[in-house]
Amino acid sequence: MFPVEVFRSEASAANLLEQVRWREGLQCPRCQSESVIKYGSYREYQRYRCKNCGRTFNDKTGTIFAHAKIGLDKLLFAFYSLLRFNTSIRQLDAEIDVSYRSLHRRVERFARTLDAPQLDLVGPVEIDEFYVSAGKKGRERDQESRSRGLSTRGRGTYEQDKPPVFTIVDRGTGDRYVIPAKSADESTIRLLLENRQKEPLTVYTDGFRAYDPLAEDDAFDREYVVHGDGEYANENVHVNTCESHGSLLRPWLSPHRGISKDKLTQYLRAFQLRRKLLRKPGREALKHAIKATL
Ligand SMILES: [Zn+2]
Repeated sequence: MFPVEVFRSEASAANLLEQVRWREGLQCPRCQSESVIKYGSYREYQRYRCKNCGRTFNDKTGTIFAHAKIGLDKLLFAFYSLLRFNTSIRQLDAEIDVSYRSLHRRVERFARTLDAPQLDLVGPVEIDEFYVSAGKKGRERDQESRSRGLSTRGRGTYEQDKPPVFTIVDRGTGDRYVIPAKSADESTIRLLLENRQKEPLTVYTDGFRAYDPLAEDDAFDREYVVHGDGEYANENVHVNTCESHGSLLRPWLSPHRGISKDKLTQYLRAFQLRRKLLRKPGREALKHAIKATL
């Protein structure tokens, strides 16, 4: 259910923010004291005064919504539309009457505040990577792309504007992750698999060479499928869930054409959040999204 009542006015959006922000009680953003009293209002927002440090603040103080030129109802509508319907900022600009620049800045700020995924792997784990085209927006590449030489299977790198994105599926917990990287090499893979609840961790991969060292390591029990041999799934040993998860990512990135590689991380985090909210009713989803930025 689309939470239309929240977007109806700044006051109703402010009300939702107040609910989410202080769900565990009021707290001073400066000194963390809970000795806080209501102290008038700042436009649509409740204002407070800390009895410990004397500072006054309101519902927006210290959040990504503070000092926004755009009303909170419009901002929440923008975040909601991005997460739910994958609306591009260009399109949002046509839907709500605000300056494209401010909107763009706020939406990106929203995505930037989302936490990095915390991996805590149980296994068996599928891991796979794919490559997206993400260069420096608005700037011609000033170099001829280098000869691939020995680069593994002609896969891309961050420098070549084809950064790798890892997809990890933990079959033990059902969690799925998408994580961009500078390159698809052994040290990156080790870092991604670092947080594991048990050893050896069962890891399923394809035949990509960078996964080979895992086979020599007692901390892992690595099994792989070789796609080139027409062998796609050997009973449980496959990376099909990774591939289907990865296939959702291309349509997610495509409305935001020309995402630069340094912004890939934030768009992937928004994608993670979108997936978490997928089955939640509209108002719950929006509350969850607000909470994720606090
Ligand atoms: Zn205080």
